[in-house]
Amino acid sequence: MTLDTGDYLNILKDDIHSAVFATVDRDGHPAARVIDIMLADENTLYFITAKGKEFYRQLTERKYVAISGMTGGGGSLSKKAISIRGEVKELGAGLVDRVFEENPYMAEIYPDKESRMAITVFCVTRGRGEYFDLSVKPITRKGFLIGDWDKEEAGGYFITRQCRGCGNCLSKCPQTCITTAQVPFEIQKEHCIRCGNCLEVCPFGAVVRREEDGRTAGQWRKAGQAAEKMTGDVPPLGGGGGGW
Ligand code: SF4
Ligand code: SF4
Repeated sequence: MTLDTGDYLNILKDDIHSAVFATVDRDGHPAARVIDIMLADENTLYFITAKGKEFYRQLTERKYVAISGMTGGGGSLSKKAISIRGEVKELGAGLVDRVFEENPYMAEIYPDKESRMAITVFCVTRGRGEYFDLSVKPITRKGFLIGDWDKEEAGGYFITRQCRGCGNCLSKCPQTCITTAQVPFEIQKEHCIRCGNCLEVCPFGAVVRREEDGRTAGQWRKAGQAAEKMTGDVPPLGGGGGGW
C-alpha cells in the first residue's frame, strides 16, 4: 500500500500521538519536550501549547520545529517512526474547541473555558518528513513533503562515477541495499540507513554524503573550518532526519 502525506500525518496523530518536539532556545541550544498531536488532515498537523510556556516563546521567535515519534508496543523492530521538520504558524484560539472535542482527555488538564484561555493552537503546514518502517526487511525509509515545501530530499549517501565496481562496499552494507546491475553501483535510498560504511571502505573515494541542502560533507567541513577560524565555534553538521 502506498502512503501519502495525509497518511503519515494521521499515523503521527493516531498511532504515535505523543511525540518529541525540538526547538532552539535564545542561547542557540536545543530544547525538547513531549507534546501531543491533536489534529491532522491531508497536509497539516496541529498541536497546542499555553502562551506562558518557554516552548511558546521559542515557536513564535524561530517559527520552526522538528518533531519525532515512534509507534508503541513490541520491540524496536516492530515499530514505525516518523520525523518532521518544518515551519510553524500560530492559529490562536479558533480551533481550541475542536481540539477538546477530538481529545476529550484534555478536559482533565484544562477542565473549563476559563482554564483554556492561555491555550493557543499551532500548525505545521510546510515542511519535510521521513517515515521509517523497522518492521520490514530491508528497513524502509520514505521521504514526504508537507504543503508547498519545494525542497526535494537531497541528503544521504550516493555513489558517483568514480566507482570501479570493485565490490568492497557490498559486504559492509547492513541493509544490502547497493545494486550492482551497472557501474557505478547504485544505493537504493529507500532502504539505506545512512550508516556510512560504504563511504568508509570505498578505496576510490566514489561514495559521497550529501547534506539535506545538497552540499557534500566535504563542503560542510570547509565551511566549518572557515567558521571555526573566525569565531572559534564549529557549526553543527546537518543530520539526516532519522536516527537509524
Ligand atoms: S550508508 Fe550504510 S546502509 Fe546506506 S548504502 Fe552505505 S553501507 Fe548501505
Ligand atoms: S567500494 Fe567504491 S568503487 Fe568499489 S563498488 Fe563500492 S562504491 Fe564502487
